[in-house]
Amino acid sequence: MLPVVALVGRPNVGKSTLFNRLTRTRDALVADFPGLTRDRKYGQAKFENLQFIVVDTGGISGNEQGIDQAMAEQSLLAIVEADVVLFLVDARAGMTAADQGIANHLRKQDKPVYVVANKVDGIDGDSETADFYALGLGKVSQIAAAHGRGISQLLELALNPLGEQFPEMVIPEVEEIKEELDADEQLAKLQSLPIKLALVGKPNVGKSTLTNRILGEERVVVYDEPGTTRDSIFIPMERDGREYILIDTAGVRRRKNVADAVEKFSIVKTLQAIEQANVVLLVVDAQEGLADQDLSLLGFVLNAGRSLVVAINKWDGLDKGLKEEIKREMDRRLGFIDFARIHFISALHGTGVGNLFESVQEAYESATKRTNTAMLTRIMDMAQEDHQPPVVRGRRVKMKYAHAGGYNPPLIVVHGNQVKDLPDAYKRYLVNYFRKSLKIMGTPIKVEFREGS
Ligand code: GDP
Ligand code: GDP
Repeated sequence: MLPVVALVGRPNVGKSTLFNRLTRTRDALVADFPGLTRDRKYGQAKFENLQFIVVDTGGISGNEQGIDQAMAEQSLLAIVEADVVLFLVDARAGMTAADQGIANHLRKQDKPVYVVANKVDGIDGDSETADFYALGLGKVSQIAAAHGRGISQLLELALNPLGEQFPEMVIPEVEEIKEELDADEQLAKLQSLPIKLALVGKPNVGKSTLTNRILGEERVVVYDEPGTTRDSIFIPMERDGREYILIDTAGVRRRKNVADAVEKFSIVKTLQAIEQANVVLLVVDAQEGLADQDLSLLGFVLNAGRSLVVAINKWDGLDKGLKEEIKREMDRRLGFIDFARIHFISALHGTGVGNLFESVQEAYESATKRTNTAMLTRIMDMAQEDHQPPVVRGRRVKMKYAHAGGYNPPLIVVHGNQVKDLPDAYKRYLVNYFRKSLKIMGTPIKVEFREGS
C-alpha cells in the first residue's frame, strides 16, 4: 500500500502546480472522474525516492457562508481517505479568512496536517510566512512549487513518520534490486506466491458481475468481512491448478447495502489495488465504448509497470455490425498497449471468462519468466546484427551485454558504450525484439541502459 497525500487549500495557492510537479516524472497522468469524485484529481506521485498517491482536492471556495459547506462537499472525502494532509497557503497573499476557516476545519480532523506556505520565491520567506503560525497547526514549511524549491524537505517532514506503516513508499534503487535483492532470489519468491489479480474498471462496467461469475455465489458470502471504503477485499481462490488472490475493488460484499454504484467506486482503492497486484484485469464496457476514465486507469496500470489483460465486457446483445465496429475502435485506440491481450466477454453469461484466465496466466508467466545474461546477450546481439545502432557524435553506439535486473515486470539491463544516447525509436525496437524472442506477452518490459561494461 502507498500513503495517500491530500492537497488542501483555497483556490490559487498553487495546489495544481504542486500536484503537477509531484506527478511529473510519471507523465502527469491524472484521473479526473467528474461526478464521481467531486472535483478531486488523483495522481501517482514520484519525487526523488518516494512514491505515493496524491489527491488534489480542487479549490475550496473562500466565500463566507461557503467554507464549511464547500469543505464538506469537495474536500472532506479526500481528507478522510488521506493519510496526511498538506494544507497550502499563499505566502505572497498572506493569511486570509478562508485560510483560517480551513484551518479550523482541519484541526478537528484526526489527521496529520502540515501547513505549506507556497510562492516563497523572490520574497523573504521567514518574515512573510510567520503569520501562518497563528493557524495553530505547527511548523510552516516554505516551498516554491513552481520552481521545485523546498519540496524534498516538505515530503521528508510529512512522509517520514509514515515510513513504518508504508514501507513500499520508498523506491528501491536499481543497484539495490540487482546487487542486494538478486533477481533470481526475487523470482523464486514470486513464483512461490499466489498470483495477485486485481479487477479494476470504472463504475458499472461489470466488475461485481465478473467477480461473482469467477467465484460463484457461495464463495463471495464466505469472504463477507468488514473493511473501509478504500480497502479492496482479498479473496483467495484456485483455478486450473493455480492459486490466485483476487483483489476485488468492486466491493461485492457491500452490494446488498449500497445501491449507489458511485459510492462503491473509489480511485484510491483502485490505485492501491493496481500497486498490490501482479496482473491487472481492466474491465471496459463494450456498449459504452472506451471512455477517458478507462484511459486514465490504463495510464495508472502502465505507470505502475503491471501486467495487464483487458476485458471488454457486455459483449452480449450486440449485433454483428456493431461488434465489428467496436473491435476496430478498440484496436485503433488501444494500439499503444500492444503487449496486452484484449478479450471480448460477457460477465453476465460467462462467455469468454475461461479464456481470460489463460491470458492472466500467460501475463504472469511472462512477468516471471527466468532469463539470464547469456540468453539476453545473445538476443541483444541478434537485434544489433539485424539493425545496427546509429552513430552518435561520430561514434557508433555499441551494446556489449545484457543481464536480468529483476522481474514482474521484467527488467533488462543493457551495458555498452553511449547506450544512454540511443534514440527512442531504437530503444523501442530493442524492447520489441526482446519481447518477440522471449515470447513475453501481457507484461511491459523495462530496459535500462548503463554506460561501460
Ligand atoms: P490552485 O488553484 O491552488 O491549484 O493554484 P495553481 O496551481 O493553479 O496556481 C495559482 C497561481 O499561482 C498560478 O498562476 C501559478 O503559476 C502560481 N504559482 C504556483 N506556484 C507558484 C510558486 O511557487 N511561485 C510563484 N511565484 N507562483 C506560483
Ligand atoms: P461494477 O460497478 O463494475 O461492479 O458493475 P456491475 O457488476 O454492478 O454491473 C453493472 C451493470 O451492468 C449491472 O446492471 C449488470 O447486470 C450489468 N452487466 C454486467 N456484466 C454484464 C454483461 O456481460 N452483459 C450485460 N448485458 N450486462 C452486464
